[in-house]
Order: sequence, then structure tokens, then C-alpha cells
Amino acid sequence: MPDLPGLPVTELLALDRRHVWHPYGPMPGRVDPLVVESASGVRLRTSSGDLVDGMSSWWSAIHGYNHPVLNEAAREQLGRMSHVMFGGLTHEPAVRLAKLLVDMSPEGLEHVFLADSGSVSVEVAVKMCLQYWRSLGRPGKRRLLTWRGGYHGDTWQPMSVCDPEGGMHELWSGVLPRQVFVDAPPADYEESYADQLRTAIERHADQLAAVIVEPVVQGAGGMRFHSPAYLRVLREACDAHDVLLVFDEIATGFGRTGALFAAEHAAVTPDVMCVGKALTGGYLTMAATLCTPRVAEGISRGEVPVLAHGPTFMGNPLAASVACASIGVLLGQDWLAEVKRIEAGLRDGLAPARELPGVRDVRVLGAIGVVQLDHEVDMRAATEAAVREGVWLRPFRDLVYTMPPYVTGDEDVARIARAVCAAAKEG
Ligand SMILES: *Cc1c(COP(=O)(O)O)cnc(C)c1O
Repeated sequence: MPDLPGLPVTELLALDRRHVWHPYGPMPGRVDPLVVESASGVRLRTSSGDLVDGMSSWWSAIHGYNHPVLNEAAREQLGRMSHVMFGGLTHEPAVRLAKLLVDMSPEGLEHVFLADSGSVSVEVAVKMCLQYWRSLGRPGKRRLLTWRGGYHGDTWQPMSVCDPEGGMHELWSGVLPRQVFVDAPPADYEESYADQLRTAIERHADQLAAVIVEPVVQGAGGMRFHSPAYLRVLREACDAHDVLLVFDEIATGFGRTGALFAAEHAAVTPDVMCVGKALTGGYLTMAATLCTPRVAEGISRGEVPVLAHGPTFMGNPLAASVACASIGVLLGQDWLAEVKRIEAGLRDGLAPARELPGVRDVRVLGAIGVVQLDHEVDMRAATEAAVREGVWLRPFRDLVYTMPPYVTGDEDVARIARAVCAAAKEG
């Protein structure tokens, strides 16, 4: 192969099409992706010019790209070791990261399992919950309950609790484990819906290992927001009926919704919590499953007193170092003020979308802005409209949405909002 760095864009795209599978895509791909040459701050340098990133690379790049502090953490760790196995060995980056996560997460979560992606952290959460009840002599408690409209990842257990209709995993109904679904949560608190949650948990309690939900914001399942009060209803019903509660904070964690973790909006501690995406500031793949001493002790008292899970790259020192640095950058600033500033900018900037034909809803929470259409978005037209405004967006289904890096300046927030409106109009 000739010198790749100098590969002309047309050739690179031809090879990409021939050999490279992209997310949720066919092989070969039907639409050429943009080629990214580099990224810095909130800008991606692409084959279609410099674009302000409205996606934070799927919720993860909260501090923007090429951040000096994160770069330095990676470089410094690279000089020590990129990786060592985690079985029988430990190291400061992993220990420091676990301590940071315990300190910043809701009170009561004390143990940390480091996983290599969000989906794997959900697998681990499910394994913890099923094994907890097995250890306590109640192996019949092995199903999960969730509400519709959720997204928890693309491996098998997570797929089984993703929205069963209209989602990406419809194809697999009949193959996946059959979980218990209740209706998607309404935006505002409704006592009748709270009753539906209570009744479903009570009715299925003998079979339920856990309830698993995304707190406050449902991400890739439909970008829906709901009242935090439902989280308290879940906590109480789970406690009343011997069911564990899992919060998937992979999208919502690290400040995105205007709380460090969305659970804080309801002052609820789950038994198990998953984090990922922004954990390393978008630098490297790493996620974590946190749990309470009750869960850990339950498992460790069982016939098989170990959690049989151990990814090859568990606790990766490079990722853990960057994660520590990213959390340091986050907590070292008034992150809430930044998120609120972006929230205000998105509220202003997206307001005109309400007047557009074909727009069903416009909603903003924290540094998340969503325009929901009354039809399936034309991805290509919407993406091109955003690119013309100098912004990178990745709409899906009936949604044009943005979750910008927290470092996005006011002018760029306004630009992103203009691009969302343009994409909603043309898509
Ligand atoms: C993205 C996401 C996942 C899956 O994480 P991956 O790192 O893509 O495997 C799980 N749950 C939620 C809520 C997510 O947003």
C-alpha cells in the first residue's frame, strides 16, 4: 500500500467503501462519510471544510478535541505503560479513577468495575444483578424490567432492554431474552403512570432481577426527557419488592443534563450505575459499572463468590489516566455554569424551529437540544444543510439533535442551533 497519510480523499473513500464497515451501516456503504483530517477545540477539520462539532462525538468529547491537559495525561502515561493486564496487577491510574468515580457519584456506590465500552458495562451490570439473586438462592429472579424508548447498547443483554419497536434491534425479537416492558415515561409527572410502574414491578417481582433505565434523558432510543420524580417511584417500588435498580448514565453522566449524574435530579442512588461515553473526555474507549456494598457482598457470599468477568483491556492505564484528567478538567471549572450557558443558547437558538412546518416538538435540557419532526428525517439532506452552516450533526429517525462540547462558545452554540433549524427544515 502506498503512503497512506498522503492518500487523496477520493482514493481513501474508495478504500473505505470497499473494506470498512461503519456504525449501523450496510457493506459496502451507500453514502460517503466525511473524511476527518484532525480536530481541535470544537472544530473538526474535514473534507467538507472546518465544522463545529454539534455531537461531541456521540456525547463523549465534552472538553473538545486536542485538549492540552488530556493530551499531556496520555503522553505522560504512554511514557510509563500503555497497558498491563489487570488480573493480579493494579496501577495508580485505575485506582485513582475508581476513587474519583466513587467520590463524585451518588452516595452509596462504592465499588467500581472498569469495562471497555458502554455496552460491556451494561452486560456487567446485568450479570451483577442476576448473580446477586442467584447467590441469595433466588435464581428465578433473572428478568429485567424497563420502559420503552430506551437505549442501552448493541450487545445481547443491552439489546434486550432497548426499545423493542422502531429501534435498531427489532430484527432480534424472538432471539433476545424476553424482558418486561412498560410504556415510555411521559415528560411530566403523572400519578397514573407512576402507578403503572409500581404495578408492573409488583406483578413481576418474583421474576425480576432488576429495573434498568436511563435516568431523566433517554438518548439514542428517541431523545425523550422525563420527570425525575419517576426515579423515586422506581426506587421505592424496587425496595418494596426486592428488585435491584440500575441506572444507565452512559449518555447522561458527567454533567450533560445539568447535574453531574442525572440520578441527582431525584436524589436517588441506584444499586448499580453504568458510566461511559464522556468518561475519558472522548479520547479512549472505557466505561465503568459501579455498585453498592449490598450488591458486591451478595455476589461474594454466593456459591460462586466471584464476578466472572475480566476483559483483556480491563482498567487500561492509558484510558484511566485520561479519564482522571478529564474528570479533573470537568470538576476544576464551573461546569454547571457552562452547561447552563449552552442550555440558554440552545433554548434561544432552537425557538424558531417551533414555527417550521413538519416540526412536532422542540426540547432542551442541560447541554442537549432536540428538534423532533413529524416524519423520518432525510439524513443526507439534513446533514448537508448542517454542513452548509459549518456544523457537524448526525440526525436519526425523526430527530435532529445536538449535545455540544461544554467548551463551545456562544457564537458556535448559535451556529449549531442555526444548523439544527436548517437541518430540520431541509430534512
Ligand atoms: C451509547 C450508550 C450505550 C452503549 O455504549 P457503547 O460504548 O456504545 O457500547 C449504552 N447506554 C447508553 C444510555 C448509551 O447512550
